Amino acid sequence: MKAVRILIICLLSATASLAAAQKKASQPDVFLITIDTLRADHVHCYGYEHIQTPALDSLAKDGIRFVQAFTPSPITNTSHTTILTGLLPSRHGVTDFAVPLAATHPTWAELLKKKGYHTAAFIGAVILDSKTLAPGLDRGFDFYDNFPEHPQTKSRWGRVERRGMDVVQHAERWLNAHPTGPHFVWVHLYDPHDPYEPPPPYSQTYKDHLYDGEIAYADSALANFVAYLKKQSWYENAVVIVVGDHGEGLGEHHEDTHGIFLYDSTTHVPLIVKRPGRGNAGKMVNAQVRTTDILPTVLDLLHVPLPERLDGESLKPYFGGMEDASRTAFGETDYPLRFGWAPLRSVRAEGFKFIDAPRPELYDLHTDPGELKNTYAPWGTTVQKFRAMLAELRAKMPPSQPSAGAVSQGTIDELEALGYLGRADAGSSSNVPEPSLLPDPKDEIEEQNLLHTAMMASEDDRPADARGALEKVLQLDPKSPTALRQLGELELHAGDYSKAAEHLKRAREVRPEDATAAFEEGQALDKIGDLADARDALEASLKLTPGQFPARLLLGQVYLGLKDARAAEDQFEAALLLQPNSVEAQLGMAKAEIAQGSFADAVRQLEPLSRTQPDNAGVFELLAQAYRGMGKTEEAERVESRAKNLKRR
Ligand SMILES: [Zn+2]
Repeated sequence: MKAVRILIICLLSATASLAAAQKKASQPDVFLITIDTLRADHVHCYGYEHIQTPALDSLAKDGIRFVQAFTPSPITNTSHTTILTGLLPSRHGVTDFAVPLAATHPTWAELLKKKGYHTAAFIGAVILDSKTLAPGLDRGFDFYDNFPEHPQTKSRWGRVERRGMDVVQHAERWLNAHPTGPHFVWVHLYDPHDPYEPPPPYSQTYKDHLYDGEIAYADSALANFVAYLKKQSWYENAVVIVVGDHGEGLGEHHEDTHGIFLYDSTTHVPLIVKRPGRGNAGKMVNAQVRTTDILPTVLDLLHVPLPERLDGESLKPYFGGMEDASRTAFGETDYPLRFGWAPLRSVRAEGFKFIDAPRPELYDLHTDPGELKNTYAPWGTTVQKFRAMLAELRAKMPPSQPSAGAVSQGTIDELEALGYLGRADAGSSSNVPEPSLLPDPKDEIEEQNLLHTAMMASEDDRPADARGALEKVLQLDPKSPTALRQLGELELHAGDYSKAAEHLKRAREVRPEDATAAFEEGQALDKIGDLADARDALEASLKLTPGQFPARLLLGQVYLGLKDARAAEDQFEAALLLQPNSVEAQLGMAKAEIAQGSFADAVRQLEPLSRTQPDNAGVFELLAQAYRGMGKTEEAERVESRAKNLKRR
């Protein structure tokens, strides 16, 4: 009897686990493809005649195409965080580069991983690297394809950006190694982002409109990926979603790229959802929807419970035509703050767009889809209503903390290589003035375009072009701290130190709290031998940011040059607290000690160094001086000849 009971229990549990296994096996794979900087109106199936996008077109035939989808953010990190959390920027808080995504916000990958999904992400630009510029975005991913920490190449490919075909090959390689599903794989194709440099044949076919060439190339990478999924027989049963993270200004509203404004040119994105079994294939939804709706839709399709808080809703009711109402789309951008300009907020609803700016805007999208005729009047009922909606939203959101994450110089360089302002100009978050008191970005956009041009030219090693663009900025605004500092940095790299010092001095007059400009001015002044002024600039820089090792080291050397060995010693001591193993700081320390006649101290500093640095002639030269000072002639001669031998090598 007992044996029978056990057998029954065994059978029952076997059936249960079989059912669970079957359920798990039938869970559809989920593939999310985000295409960077993709304007909806530059995709063929969205009605653009000057391009071939066969992969996007065929996905739209197999799935549901949303004609009017909007991102709340025109900038990569923020908009991707919205897609992966279903939250508005002011809720998830990733409103700037390198701001960590708070652990309290569940991500798409975490939610699916809990349901047994194998998860992986493949990014096309360092801007989404979770080690530097997008901390926390990797949460829930078994594998997150970051960029190498020490890239082997100086070219932008592989260092800050990957071609779409490389990204999908990485994804396919991972899928080959992890064939057991269900999978959630996110693929990010960065190509359409500027600079527009599509590879051949797209560079030829689209030579007069290279942005489209990049889109066509990204489409070919997508085609490769979809063909792979079909070959593996994963396509049919999968949820496949393609979405743009934001658009591109292309000169509309005088914006060349994206990030500053909230017009449709940078917020209207393509969105295609292919369901398992191609349900509702070929459907077109005209209602206005948001990228915050994507995650709730996927969770709805997979029957996964929704997290407590989401700013979007499932799009499923649109699939079968149960719903056709437009949803209110909010827009937010804090990127202008990086330049010291007012952040913007917008509402797009009922055929109108309201933009809350120092000079507010209202557009009637029925008669003015290009948002060219501002009909704002403070007493207008639509304005009043939309203002109230924004106020209500603000009241619901956590208090804003517009702080840039702490990033290293290397990360700042990477950001600037991608064309983003690496260092915020508004200073630290604590001293950001009331937004309405900041300049309206509409009045500053030409300046931003020129700064962007200059950054891309510097990255491309075209200093003359960079200089030209920066000088034009100064014609528009002679006190632009960003242009003055960048011009200073340009001359510093070019070796024109007196010009560099001049620009940097002016940059600091406009923005005395800029520790970097002060350090760079100190470098330039040291090079031209103006040690007293170099000292003042470096002291000022270190007063603002005490923990700068290179500035401490340089200030120590400047003090040595000024024959103030005591002050030099203080600086080298502070430098050694920051980097105890620095050879340069130890040598500086020894020099300062010798200059003060503390020969025994110098010997104590130098003898261990002579063992760890047996090939460093400078160590032995100093040691000789110290021995001589102590009257140890024999030792002095021995190390002197060692120094000579090393120098001869
Ligand atoms: Zn982007």
